[in-house]
Amino acid sequence: MSRPINVAVLGATGSVGQQTLDVIDRNPSRLRLFGLTEGRRTTRRKAEHLVRGKAGDPDFDARVEAMVTDPRCDIVLVAIPGARALAPTLAALKAKKTVALATKEVLVMAGDLVMRAAGEGGIRTVDSEHSAIWQCLWGERRESVRRLIITASGGPFWAHPELDLDQVTVEQALNHPRWSMGPKITVDSATMMNKGLEVIEAHHLFGIPLDQVTVCIHPQSVVHSLVEFVDGSLKAQLGRPDMRLPISLALCYPERLPDAVLPTPLEELSGLEFHALDEKRFPSVSLARDASAAGQGRPAVLNAANEEAVRAFLAGEIPFSGIVSSVEQALAAFQGGGDTLQDILEADRWAREYVKDNSGKLKAK
Ligand code: MG
Repeated sequence: MSRPINVAVLGATGSVGQQTLDVIDRNPSRLRLFGLTEGRRTTRRKAEHLVRGKAGDPDFDARVEAMVTDPRCDIVLVAIPGARALAPTLAALKAKKTVALATKEVLVMAGDLVMRAAGEGGIRTVDSEHSAIWQCLWGERRESVRRLIITASGGPFWAHPELDLDQVTVEQALNHPRWSMGPKITVDSATMMNKGLEVIEAHHLFGIPLDQVTVCIHPQSVVHSLVEFVDGSLKAQLGRPDMRLPISLALCYPERLPDAVLPTPLEELSGLEFHALDEKRFPSVSLARDASAAGQGRPAVLNAANEEAVRAFLAGEIPFSGIVSSVEQALAAFQGGGDTLQDILEADRWAREYVKDNSGKLKAK
């Protein structure tokens, strides 16, 4: 395409949204800001479509739909946090637009539906681990894959087994050692629920069975993830922890933008460590795998219960350890539903109510 790619950025004021605007600004011959949505804060940007407000409000959703169905819009980058990103993502896919997807919750909640709507190549991932796996899979056959290995920095608590997870504070949970991200995803990284969600996300994105999607701790966050092949070969993607790389690839694939991020000097790579995940201390990954295998709205329950519990933790209503136990309890209490969009939205609503009603019992013991 000779003209610049017209990009709509949904969720432009968040961390990924801001970095997307930066990538667009630095590549004016390749990329053009066509539309954006912003919440309470403003980006002070001009674009042909500018939508202010909150995803989920009927007026906001209608105006986003008008933006993503505009024939001049080439690609829609979705970075609206959480479950509210589902409707705009489906609207963009229905309009046959390529979606650069940063919001993993969309695939966690409704992976089968979304992948069906996307078809081949409809979704390009903007999650750093999945971008790494995507790059490792270029030119490879699906049947050559033995397993995907998602790396985890471990968050602020992994290296401190002496810490009582009932006692850790909001401030401690928000103090991520490697990445600077929004509060929800930072807490998810402390509980490792982020990795649970990423296992489900990878399963849907790459069509790989859940038991072939594994997690390993890699505190340096240089290896962004790996693929092991049937011949015993391992492929990894390495680089600085900088979201502008996955963003650039999702926007410009198969082109690689020159200097998207600073190169990584090899001599800085000594001392890379890899450790097994302690699933007893951090049960989120197995919880997520089980929920995804059971289906019938359970991944939506996992995601919604987690969102609600993280909100309650950040508001000081429940202890840190109450986040995962809320999710566990919600999954155990859920009666199950179907797999239609309606069923999924109902499971989502039910789980939020359930956690709200029961979080009182988890109040700081
Ligand atoms: Mg990630």
